[in-house]
Amino acid sequence: MDMVKIESIPLDVAVIGGGPAGISACLELSKSLELKAALFESETELGGMPRSCHIFFGLRDRKRIYTGPTYAQKLDRLVRKTSVGIHTGTTVLNIIPGNPGEAHRLNVVSAEGLKSYKSRFLILATGCFESSRQARHIAGTRPAGIFTTGTLQQLVNLRHLRPGKRAVIIGSEHVALSSVLTLRRAGVSVIGMVEEYPELQTYNFPADAMKRFFGFPIYRDTSVKAILGNDRVKGIELIRGKDQKAFQLACDMIIITGRFRPDSSLIENTPIEQDLSTLGPVIDMSFRTTVPNIFAAGNVLRGADMHDLCALEGKLAAQNIIRVSKSNEADAGQFVSISVKRPIRYVVPQKIEPNQIGKRLFSKLFPWPAIQVERTLKKPVLEAWSGKDKIWEASFLKLIANNRYPLPVDKFDWNRVDLKQGIILKVKSIKR
Ligand SMILES: Cc1cc2nc3c(=O)[nH]c(=O)nc-3n(C[C@H](O)[C@H](O)[C@H](O)COP(=O)(O)OP(=O)(O)OC[C@H]3O[C@@H](n4cnc5c(N)ncnc54)[C@H](O)[C@@H]3O)c2cc1C
Repeated sequence: MDMVKIESIPLDVAVIGGGPAGISACLELSKSLELKAALFESETELGGMPRSCHIFFGLRDRKRIYTGPTYAQKLDRLVRKTSVGIHTGTTVLNIIPGNPGEAHRLNVVSAEGLKSYKSRFLILATGCFESSRQARHIAGTRPAGIFTTGTLQQLVNLRHLRPGKRAVIIGSEHVALSSVLTLRRAGVSVIGMVEEYPELQTYNFPADAMKRFFGFPIYRDTSVKAILGNDRVKGIELIRGKDQKAFQLACDMIIITGRFRPDSSLIENTPIEQDLSTLGPVIDMSFRTTVPNIFAAGNVLRGADMHDLCALEGKLAAQNIIRVSKSNEADAGQFVSISVKRPIRYVVPQKIEPNQIGKRLFSKLFPWPAIQVERTLKKPVLEAWSGKDKIWEASFLKLIANNRYPLPVDKFDWNRVDLKQGIILKVKSIKR
C-alpha cells in the first residue's frame, strides 16, 4: 500500500484545547510578535466546559462576573481578534515529541481531512471529565437515563431538552450542586442526593440551602447497591452505611457527578511522565512537562478545578514559553520531586525548583503549588517528609474535597530536604 506523505505545517506554539486555559494561553502568546501560534479545538465552538455551565464565571481572570456561556463567548471574541490561528472542529489525534532541539509533531483531523503540524512548543489544555458509571463499578442493569453532569448540561443548556422527570444525584462534590440547578431548570424533580461518606464533598451551606429550597433529602454515608430498570431507569437501590439497611428510590434519571479525571489521553505512548495520583502530566512550577518545550495547563493537570484558576494557569504557561523562547533555556534547573499519600489526592506541580521559592507565584489569588484532598477532612494535620526528616507540619480546621489549597513550600525546612529522595506529603491525623 502506498503511504501518503503529509507535509508538516510549521508553527512556533500549538495550543491544544480551546477552553479557558487554552484561550488564555493564546491571548498571552498573541502579545509576542515573534511567535506564530495556533489553537486546536475539537468542538465547533470555542469556550470549553463553561459553554454549558451556569453562573459565576470570570472573577479571578477577567475581574467580572459572567454566566458560563457569556464568559465562553467573551473569550471566543477576544482570541479571534488576535493573530493566533483558530482551528475549531479540529481534533488533535496524537502528538509525537521531537528529539532534543527538534520540533514536536501533531496530527490533526477536521472536515478538511488529516493534517500534520510541527511546532517548537506545545501547550496541552485538554481539560477533564467526570468518571462514568463503569469507572465507578456501579452494579445493576444498563438502562437509558444515566448521565454525567457534563452530558446533562449539554442536553439541557445547549440543546434545551428535558431528559426525564425524577432524578437521583450520585455524589456531593461542587458539581452535584450544578446538577441540581440544571435539573430544576429543565423542570426535573430532584428525588435525592447520595453521598457515600458521612461528610459532604462540598460546602455545607449551599448544599443545605438547595436541599431546603428544592425539597430533596441528602443521603450521607450511603452507597449505591444497584441501578434498577431494563429499557429505562426505574429506580436505584441504596445501602446505608451505619446499619447496612437497603432501600429503593423510584426515579427515571440518575446523574453520576464528580470524581473528575484529566483528559490526558494525548500523553499516552509519549515519553511525557504521567502522575499516577492526578493521571495528568507531571509538571514543574513553570508548567513544563518532563519533555522539553511541552507545557500543560488547566484541568488536564488534575481533574476539576475552577475555570478562572485554569485560565490563569494558561496565561502563566504562555508567559513561560515567551520567556524560554527568548532565552533558549531548554529546561528547568535543579528541582525536587514531591508526591502525596492518600487521602491527599494530589500536589501540582510535582516538581519544585527550590531557587524559585519566594520569587513568584505565591498568592491567595493563585495558590501554587496546590493540593487537593480526595474527601472532606475535619481537623487534619498534614506533614511533609524528606527521607527520615520531617520538614513541615500544619493543622487545618477543615479541608473540603476538590478545593484547591496552597501548599506553603516556603515554610518547609529546605536545609533538611534531600533532593534525591524528594518530599512526601501525608496526613498525620484526622478527627473522626
Ligand atoms: C461537568 C463539568 C462541570 C463543570 N462546572 C464548573 C463550574 O460550574 N464552574 C467552574 O469553575 N468549573 C467547572 N468545571 C471545571 C471546568 O473544567 C473548568 O471550569 C474549566 O472549563 C477548565 O478549563 P480548561 O481549559 O482546563 O478545560 P475545558 O474547559 O474542559 O476545555 C478543554 C477543551 O479541550 C478540547 N479538547 C480536548 N481534547 C482535545 C483534542 N485532542 N483536540 C482538540 N481539542 C481537544 C475540549 O473539546 C475542550 O473544549 C466543570 C467541569 C465539568 C467536566
